[in-house]
Amino acid sequence: MSGILNGKNIIVMGVANERSIAWGIAKSLHREGANLIFTYRKERSFQKLSQLLEANGIKPLLCVSCDVSDDASIEAAAQEIQAAVPVIHGLAHSVAFADKEYLQGEYVDTTRAGYLQAQDISAYSLVAMAKACKPLMTEGGSIVTQTYLGAERVMKNYNVMGVAKAALEASVRYLAEDLGKAGIRVNAISSGPIRTLSAKGGVAGFNELVTTMDEKAPLRRNVDQDEVGDATMFLLSPLSRGVTGEVLHVDSGYHILG
Ligand code: NDP
Repeated sequence: MSGILNGKNIIVMGVANERSIAWGIAKSLHREGANLIFTYRKERSFQKLSQLLEANGIKPLLCVSCDVSDDASIEAAAQEIQAAVPVIHGLAHSVAFADKEYLQGEYVDTTRAGYLQAQDISAYSLVAMAKACKPLMTEGGSIVTQTYLGAERVMKNYNVMGVAKAALEASVRYLAEDLGKAGIRVNAISSGPIRTLSAKGGVAGFNELVTTMDEKAPLRRNVDQDEVGDATMFLLSPLSRGVTGEVLHVDSGYHILG
C-alpha cells in the first residue's frame, strides 16, 4: 500500500472507543501508510483499542500504557517506545479531562483542584509529551493536538475546559517556536462538537451544540471523526510542511460566525 505517510512512525494518544476522535485519526493515518504506536490510559480503553485494531486489520508497532497526569508513566512510555522504534515522525495528542461537575453552571464556581486537573491533563500534557518525544524526532516531526472553540470565546457550560484549551492553544504557539529549530512542527485542530464518550458524558447541554451546527454552520451540518482524522493526517504529513503554530478549524465554518 502506498501513501503519503509510508515509513513514518506516528504515536496516537486517546482512543477510548470507536467514537474517539483519535480513532478517526488512526484510520486516516493507517490509510496513508503510517506505522502506528498507540497509548492508552484505562485498561478498558486498551481492550476496546485491541478489538478495533483487530476488526480493521491494523497491526500497530506498539500499544503502550501512558497516564499523562503522571511524569513516571510518561517517562516509562517514552522509554518503551524508544526501545522498540528508533525514530518517531509524529504525535497525535487527543486527550483531555475535566470533572463534569465543572462542565456545567458557572465558571466562577470552579475549585482550585478542578482547575488544576483540567489544566494538567488537557494542556500541560501536550508540553510533557512534546518534551518526551523531541529526542525521538531526530528526523524532524509533527505534533498535532485537539482543541475547541470554547478556547476563543465563551461557550455555555464549557467553562474550565475552555480555559484549559486556551492554554493548550497558547502552548501550541510556544512549542512551535521552541521545536521549530529541530524541524518539529506543532499545530492544533479545532473541531466542531462530536458525540464521543467525553463530550456526551461530560459537557452539559452538549446536544444543543450539535443541533446548532446543523442550523447555523456555513455548511449547515456538523463534522465527524473521519473529517477531523483527515485534517489531522494533513497536519502530520509533509503536505503541511510549511505550517506550524496554527489552529485549523474543522467545524463546517462555524467559527467565522459572529
Ligand atoms: P474520548 O473520550 O473518546 O477520548 C478522550 C481520551 O482522553 C480517552 O482516550 C482518555 O483515555 C484520554 N485521557 C483522559 N485522561 C487521560 C490521562 N490522564 N492520561 C491519558 N489519557 C487520558 O473523547 P474525544 O475523542 O472527544 O476527545 C479527544 C480530544 O478531542 C480531547 O482533547 C477533546 O477535548 C478534543 N475535542 C473534542 C471535541 C468533541 O466534541 N468531542 C471537540 C473538540 C475537541 P481513558 O478513557 O483511557 O482514560
